[in-house]
Amino acid sequence: MAHWLVTGGAGFIGSHLVEALVARGHTVRVLDNFSTGRLENLAAVLDRIEVVTGDVRDPCVVREAARGTDVVAHLAAVVSVQASLEDPRTTMAVNVEGTLNVLEAARTAGARVLFASSAAVYGDHTVLPLEEDLSPRPLSPYAASKAAGEALCRAYHAAFGLSTLSLRFFNVYGPRQDPRSPYSGVISIFVDRMQRGLPPVVYGDGLQTRDFVYVADVVEAVIRAGERGRSDGLALNVARGEEIRILDLIALLNGILSTGLEPVFAPPRAGEVYRSAGSPRRLESVLGWRPQVELKEGLTRLVRETGFRFRADAFDFWAVWGYN
Ligand code: NAD
Repeated sequence: MAHWLVTGGAGFIGSHLVEALVARGHTVRVLDNFSTGRLENLAAVLDRIEVVTGDVRDPCVVREAARGTDVVAHLAAVVSVQASLEDPRTTMAVNVEGTLNVLEAARTAGARVLFASSAAVYGDHTVLPLEEDLSPRPLSPYAASKAAGEALCRAYHAAFGLSTLSLRFFNVYGPRQDPRSPYSGVISIFVDRMQRGLPPVVYGDGLQTRDFVYVADVVEAVIRAGERGRSDGLALNVARGEEIRILDLIALLNGILSTGLEPVFAPPRAGEVYRSAGSPRRLESVLGWRPQVELKEGLTRLVRETGFRFRADAFDFWAVWGYN
C-alpha cells in the first residue's frame, strides 16, 4: 500500500479518487484550498485521511504536504475555460506555478507525479479520435495552462528522472459535480435544469460533440497509473472514444428523466472546441484500462444519486457549460 497526496482532493474528481484509494487500503493526504472543493465531499472518509488546507501556489505548503508520500495525484486547478478567459493570470498562477511547486515537492520527497491534464490541450484538431501524438493547439488560457503543466512534467522526467505521467481527462461527469457553479460540466448543469423542468441551454448549434467519461472510470485510470510504478513523462488520454452530440445528450436525458424539454439556443462561446473524442487505445495498452460505464448507465446513476437534492432547491441561473 502506498502513501498518496491528492491535491484538489476535496473537489469533484478528487473526492471520488480519495474514497477509492482509502477503500483499497492506501494512506491519503489531501491538499486543498476549498475554492471550489468542499469538506462534505470527503465526509465518508474524513476520519481515515489527513486534510491539509493550503494553496498549491505556496511552495512551502506543497513541500510539507508531499513529505513522506510515494505518489502525488495533482488535481488542484482552476478548472474552467470561462474563468481562464476572465482571469488568465490566476489560471496560470494556480495551474502552471502550482504544478511547478508539485513537481519540486515530489522531487524532494522522491514521489511519482500524476498530473490531471485535459482534452482541452488538443484544441481545434479535427481528425478524430484524438491521439496523444498530436501537437497541442490550446484555444484558451486554461488549455494553455494544462499544456504547460504537461511540458513541465515531461521536462522534470527528462532533466531529473522524476516519474511523471499526464492524464488527459475528457469530459468527466458523475455525482458531486457542482451544477450551481456557472463553470461546471455540461451534464451536471443539464440534469439540474431538466429535473426542475427548465430547458437546457445550448451554446451554438448543439451539433458540437464531447467524449463523456464517468468519474469512476477516471478514478480507476488514476489509481492504475499510480500503482503501476515509474512513468516516463508522457501523456495518456482518459476517454471512452465515443463522440456524443450535445443534442443527442439532451435526447438521452429526456428519456431517462421522462421529460420532453426542447433546448434553448445561445451564441457559441469563445475558447471552446467544436468536436471532441479521444482514443483510449494507448491507455488500454499501457494500463489495461477499459471504460466500464456506458453513457446511458452513467447518466442513470447520476440522476438516481442526485435527483432528490436538486429538486429540493428552486435556485435558477443561466446555465454555462464549458470544455474542461
Ligand atoms: P473541482 O473544481 O471540483 O476540483 C478542483 C479542486 O482543486 C477543488 O477541490 C479546489 O478547491 C481545488 N483547488 C483549486 N485551486 C486550488 C489551489 N490554488 N490550491 C489548492 N487547491 C485548489 O474540479 P474537477 O472537475 O474535480 O477537476 C479536477 C482536475 O481534473 C482539474 O485539474 C481539472 O483541470 C481536471 N479536469 C477535469 C475535467 C472535468 O471534466 N471535470 C476534464 C479535464 C480535466
